Amino acid sequence: MPMPLIAGNWKMNGSLSLVETFGQALADADLPSRLEVALMVPFPYLESASRALAGTRAVLGAQTLSDQPAGAFTGEVSGEMLREVGATLVLVGHSERRTLFGEDDSAVLARVRRALEVGLTPVLCLGETLEERDDGRGETVVIGQLEAVLDALEAEQRHRLVIAYEPVWAIGTGRTATPEQAQAIHAALRRRLAAYDDGLAEKTQLLYGGSMKADNAAELLAQPDIDGGLVGGASLKIDDFLAICQSAG
Ligand code: PEP
Repeated sequence: MPMPLIAGNWKMNGSLSLVETFGQALADADLPSRLEVALMVPFPYLESASRALAGTRAVLGAQTLSDQPAGAFTGEVSGEMLREVGATLVLVGHSERRTLFGEDDSAVLARVRRALEVGLTPVLCLGETLEERDDGRGETVVIGQLEAVLDALEAEQRHRLVIAYEPVWAIGTGRTATPEQAQAIHAALRRRLAAYDDGLAEKTQLLYGGSMKADNAAELLAQPDIDGGLVGGASLKIDDFLAICQSAG
């Protein structure tokens, strides 16, 4: 069974003082022994967060990266730069990147490749819209997003990803997928991974994201194919975030 992972995605929120608060609280926290924790903070906070998290169990992540290694790409940030300031993970294909910034499957694949090239772990985000779910196409869409990336990778590269299922209709809406709805998609993802290779299905961390909170995390995380959570809003409050971490143990 994969190691549980709780990853906080601050999006474009937070402050330097919140970084310090999290560093202190995570250093003092008595976290479950079988748990990985990650914090995805905005670019300007990465270096401070790297220092603040140094004495904790949490690792550092970024929220996106350029598909280019370097050059005249004003405003972009490369994977190398993220590594240099201490990030080890990076979100790729978050639904806000897909919908607000027009990142399609090929843009997502290019970023996954860049992340792998520089040794970052891509947290590949997948999820269907409400319309797609209501049309009965939720699973097909999610599996299609997975295949758009995994089909193009080498077998060895597929083993270096974390997958996050985040139904678009549940992100930031307060509306959570039921444990049964989430489990059904996670089981489908696990089956698809097994078709690439059994070892991949067994070891890949499958996170659920979408309004995961302190009061609903335990039942989601109890599902057999949910290995952790990608937490947005509730990752900005240290007590809520720690409570979710405790639920994963
Ligand atoms: C997210 O940003 O990945 C997310 C799941 O957000 P929220 O928990 O706020 O729905």
